[in-house]
Amino acid sequence: MSNLSKPCIACGGPVFHVSDWVSKCSACGLEIADLPTGTGGGVDGLEDLRRDNFERIWKVLDGTGDLSGQRLLEIGCARGFFLDGARKRGLSVVGIEPDAYGDEAKRKGHEVLTGLFPAVTASFPDRSFDIVAFNDVFEHVPDPRNALHECNRLLTPGGKLLINLPMSDGIFYRTARIMKVLGWNKPYERLWQKGFSSPHVYYFSEHSLKTLIKNTIGYRTLHSGRLRTTSLSRLRQRLRSVSVNRVSTAALYIGSVVLTLGEGVFPADIKVFIFEKPQ
Ligand SMILES: [Zn+2]
Repeated sequence: MSNLSKPCIACGGPVFHVSDWVSKCSACGLEIADLPTGTGGGVDGLEDLRRDNFERIWKVLDGTGDLSGQRLLEIGCARGFFLDGARKRGLSVVGIEPDAYGDEAKRKGHEVLTGLFPAVTASFPDRSFDIVAFNDVFEHVPDPRNALHECNRLLTPGGKLLINLPMSDGIFYRTARIMKVLGWNKPYERLWQKGFSSPHVYYFSEHSLKTLIKNTIGYRTLHSGRLRTTSLSRLRQRLRSVSVNRVSTAALYIGSVVLTLGEGVFPADIKVFIFEKPQ
């Protein structure tokens, strides 16, 4: 293990290589990958799960007060499923999406800007939004501190920053790390989305994410809760992209069934956090 020259972006601690392409902060546990953009396309087979998780997130937001008339910015809105839930509740919405499937959100009547955050919001005045949301996006952002400063500029006092992301302290990632030590790299590479069009840049734990937010913009955590990782009906479809042969697919399937049945008991693989800007 060699100590890298750049300190951890979350806590300033020392960062060490743990594999050819992953380094880790020895103080807060933040993991950082150095993966090239691949040609493997996006992640499919998760649409039902995403919709289900978005409903869970909206129920949490519903509990924070009357949302009607609030202004929402979603970074990486994809096909606009989360924006649909916002419109139902009377929020005004802006989505940002660099990829072509943002056109589907536009066709549904949502305002969608094509481009990359934070450059694309530079012309918005300060305090333009009450909620800024990252759904399965924050772990792909190359410069999270820069992104957080822009969120802070755009949010009203008391505004909410919503981040939903995969967790390095979840059971799937922990299991994949053990499999990697045992010589089976595929699940680990799949969780980082190695070879996909937009692989993960970071893997956060609850601790490293909260540390980054606190040290960068000083927000308090209003809510943290688990989201569903998988559904059995979709499992086979997802496993095809990981499998190397029938035996390993079967082994992973059985393991995943056990993990799915144990959801709620094991550490969560996907969590949603709501952070609040000070008044
Ligand atoms: Zn750290």
